[in-house]
Amino acid sequence: MNDPLQAQLPRRDLPILVGGEWRRGRGHAYQSLYPADLSVSAELHAASAEDANEAVESAQHAFATTDWARRRPHERARVLYRIAEGIRARREELAQWQRRDNGKPINETRALVDSAAGTFQYFGAACETLEDSLTPQRGEQITMSVHEPMGVVAAITPWNSPIASEAQKMAPALAAGNAVVVKPAEITPIAALELARICEEAGVPGGIISVLPGKGSVVGDVLVKHPLVRRVSFTGGTSTGRGIAHAAADKMMPVSLELGGKSPTMVFADCDIDHAVAGVLFGIFSSSGESCIAGSRLFVERSIQARFMERLVAATRQLRVGDPVSERTQMGPLVSSAHRDSIERYVARGLADGGRLVTGGARPEGEGRERGCYYLPTIIEGLANSSAIVQEEIFGPVLVVLPFDNEEDLLAQANDSVYALAAGIWTSDYKRAWRVARAVHAGTVWINTYKQFSISTPFGGWRDSGIGREKGRLGILEYMEQKSLYWGMNTAPLPWAA
Ligand code: NAP
Repeated sequence: MNDPLQAQLPRRDLPILVGGEWRRGRGHAYQSLYPADLSVSAELHAASAEDANEAVESAQHAFATTDWARRRPHERARVLYRIAEGIRARREELAQWQRRDNGKPINETRALVDSAAGTFQYFGAACETLEDSLTPQRGEQITMSVHEPMGVVAAITPWNSPIASEAQKMAPALAAGNAVVVKPAEITPIAALELARICEEAGVPGGIISVLPGKGSVVGDVLVKHPLVRRVSFTGGTSTGRGIAHAAADKMMPVSLELGGKSPTMVFADCDIDHAVAGVLFGIFSSSGESCIAGSRLFVERSIQARFMERLVAATRQLRVGDPVSERTQMGPLVSSAHRDSIERYVARGLADGGRLVTGGARPEGEGRERGCYYLPTIIEGLANSSAIVQEEIFGPVLVVLPFDNEEDLLAQANDSVYALAAGIWTSDYKRAWRVARAVHAGTVWINTYKQFSISTPFGGWRDSGIGREKGRLGILEYMEQKSLYWGMNTAPLPWAA
């Protein structure tokens, strides 16, 4: 299909935003490629370490000298509402650029744009309704707990859900009165830059936001270690997150880490099979499986395994894998050839370990898909829970299936993972659903649904899936320092000195 952005492609010399100035990055020149056919979406110069230092210093200067942090909450909220409206006004254009960024189907990128708008609106409301507290008086003082902005916050995001990921960090950080330096994944630079323009137009003062597409090992590293950066909010892989946590420990800096997952989906014999099949498919294959919360380990009660798998495999073979421009496409390409190579290595390893390929396991052919980074939805059975592809995050459209005999057996397998990000339960027995939901190790559990999100509900992982929570009204507090105030009400001097 024709690309609706064709007349604007490629974007040449795409400027980045450093300390309030739109200009060429001082790092290497590179091209951002469209995963569906490897055509060039944008040509730009990456941010350099020098740019990162300058952005942090400018952010600190803007934090100290503009009125952003001192504006009353309802005044900052008004700007966030304008950002939400600015995103909505440019919905289609943003969704199309987001599609170019990482190759997600247009219907998905529209949903991500809507989510970004909703996030700014929500944190505008959280900002203007956040209440500090008067704590119970225990002496001749009035005691209060209040919150202050932190200063410069760094937001480091991955390539899989640009704009939504950036909004999830920028909105609460800005609402709290901070300056934010954003480092999107180098390969998906466009959405974050567009979002920053909308923020500026909405009235965020210059210098409060910088956006630095560039290498994590260069730009990200400077941001994490810079003494003026008071908090890092990171979303990405567990090994990168662990490195950031080490660096943060050295400077006693709080971090929030939204990391990887290998989420179990658990299907009981008494489930509604139509719902379960649709939910399992959506849980693993939407976003081509490039989703931290992908339901990538499927546990099916043995008594229905054959029947359930027959339905699931038939439905998987019907999935429409193709052009992200098409409204009908369910799975687009993977983000890059390198990422597809890594998925192919995982599948080969699973088969070498004794796995049985049920469907997929290949690149699709025809309709021009050879030009892009496509991979078929893939299901593998017959592996032990301990095997590498059942334990490691593949971050692609690969589902491993294991049977279980009873709840105890199921929970032992489901909880046997270094990850604990999300889980899904399919059953019509609400007492069982309650038991399993409380016993499974996961930050989010979906019961008879999967991969549904609400900005008003906290999100985050346990163990190797991360530290800290995003979303929810109190998500704004992740970007604030708490302070206690004691107001002396004594009628006489403190007695010790008497
Ligand atoms: P990644 O390699 O860890 O990269 C994430 C971000 O960190 C990128 O912007 C990357 O920059 C940057 N980075 C890399 N090295 C860095 C360093 N030393 N210091 C600072 N920043 C550094 O992860 P990814 O492959 O892009 O994303 C996939 C991973 O993200 C998966 O594991 C997925 O589960 C996880 N994820 C988690 C959530 C969640 O909410 N829990 C959501 C989405 C994704 P460059 O890549 O540009 O060099």
